[in-house]
Amino acid sequence: MTGNVIPRSGGTDVVPGFVPAGAPLGQIGTDPDDPEDPWSAAAPPGGVVVQTPGPSASPGSVGTLRVPLPKNLPTGPRRVGIQVGHWKTDEAPTELDKLVVQTGASWEGVNEVDVNLDIAQRVAVILNARGIAVDILPTTVPSGYLADAVVALHADSDGVGENSGFKMAHNARRGTYEDALLAAIKSTYAKATGLDYDATHISRSMTGYYIYSWTRFQHAVSPFTPGVILEMGYLSNDDDRALLLDKPDLLAQGISDGILRFLSDTPRAKIFEKDLVVPAFPSRPPAPTATP
Ligand SMILES: [Zn+2]
Repeated sequence: MTGNVIPRSGGTDVVPGFVPAGAPLGQIGTDPDDPEDPWSAAAPPGGVVVQTPGPSASPGSVGTLRVPLPKNLPTGPRRVGIQVGHWKTDEAPTELDKLVVQTGASWEGVNEVDVNLDIAQRVAVILNARGIAVDILPTTVPSGYLADAVVALHADSDGVGENSGFKMAHNARRGTYEDALLAAIKSTYAKATGLDYDATHISRSMTGYYIYSWTRFQHAVSPFTPGVILEMGYLSNDDDRALLLDKPDLLAQGISDGILRFLSDTPRAKIFEKDLVVPAFPSRPPAPTATP
């Protein structure tokens, strides 16, 4: 594969704004959605070009991040990562410390992580049988993980047993195929399970899911890898829980069908076609001063 326009060995200083892999992306500031938690973003494998707005840029312009096309693109069979929510969280590195306390939902003796792992393994069997390579990923994903798709599996609890249904989300500042991946799984999963889509309880921990927050964490999948998070249903709801526990093959088929549809609609050559350019974060605003 050719087309890498950004030199990244023996001459990385040729491109203004180039930040090599692992170096801080301090120029961009702090996530404005979470100013209390300054992130320690670092450039992913392959580095990033930070293009700050020039003197002639329009007011409010935040510049862009250009991510060069990865050097080691996937070859061979289509590859899919299935992340098991909360699996091996105790092995997470320091940067994910906040997540270590999140052990997942638990209801009537059923632990979410066990459900997530069970469904993930069934999805892997179905996809393997179709010639697709599958990586079952724990809490800590490989930095810059490259694949044709990644789906993170979770199950939910609302603490009272009222909510029902499944939820999905993807992050910002990533490639252009995440809407398509989400739509494909949303359609096949709804059809297979009969569950309603719960659009009203999609949280910021979903839309900012850490394994897709490559501008914030080192242990995030490549922004080129199309990724979504799926909350498969509510463990706290009697009907949803019965489905999760008693019909795991149905759920796995619904997820697999969506992934297969996405892969057949989206050639690898399109996913890894060209450098990715996404908006940078605005600079962190100064802390408000108390008014007398
Ligand atoms: Zn979870």
